[in-house]
Amino acid sequence: MRKSPFQFGYRITQHYSGAHPGYDLVALRENGRDWIGAPVMANEAAIVFRAYWNHPVGGNFVIIQSLDKKRLFYYGHLRNIAVKTGQQVSEGQTLGQQGATGQVTGEHLHFGAKIDKYDGNPWVEPFVLINNYTVPAESPADGSEYMNYTVKPGDTLSKIALQIFGDATRWPEFEYQGDPNVILVGQVIRLRVKNHTPG
Ligand SMILES: [Zn+2]
Repeated sequence: MRKSPFQFGYRITQHYSGAHPGYDLVALRENGRDWIGAPVMANEAAIVFRAYWNHPVGGNFVIIQSLDKKRLFYYGHLRNIAVKTGQQVSEGQTLGQQGATGQVTGEHLHFGAKIDKYDGNPWVEPFVLINNYTVPAESPADGSEYMNYTVKPGDTLSKIALQIFGDATRWPEFEYQGDPNVILVGQVIRLRVKNHTPG
């Protein structure tokens, strides 16, 4: 599972809310500048549930459904589409390019998610969905470790960093790509604790 639909980072131009049930993201290059036309990548191996051209609102959009059929991801306003409905895609495969099709004021990706099925189900917070999806423990080659942390009332990423590192300022070291201001109580955050030495 990729934590981001882009190769490098992104900036958020509109947050998830009831009125706007997804994130508007603009891809960044490795040097931190905006990446116009960036490849949009599948967050996980999936079947293309819908590849749709020229929707009046979503423009060119792609919806993928995970192979276990539990998660769907929506990628809207694409400049073009590189896949077809029904096609299987691998994690990280390019679905299209970030664009400005449909109802937009500028180029960005609208990134949305649903659980279980598309028709009739509500949109959910995509980064919370990604972070709650846990995979078997891995041992990355660089010696870093993963841990799962369940958010408690009153927690912030700074407080969690204080508990784990003894230093509240080290929270950016967590591999947490959701909005740091909207961690939810009970949410399981999978943290990559870089080069963390126990004790
Ligand atoms: Zn949007």
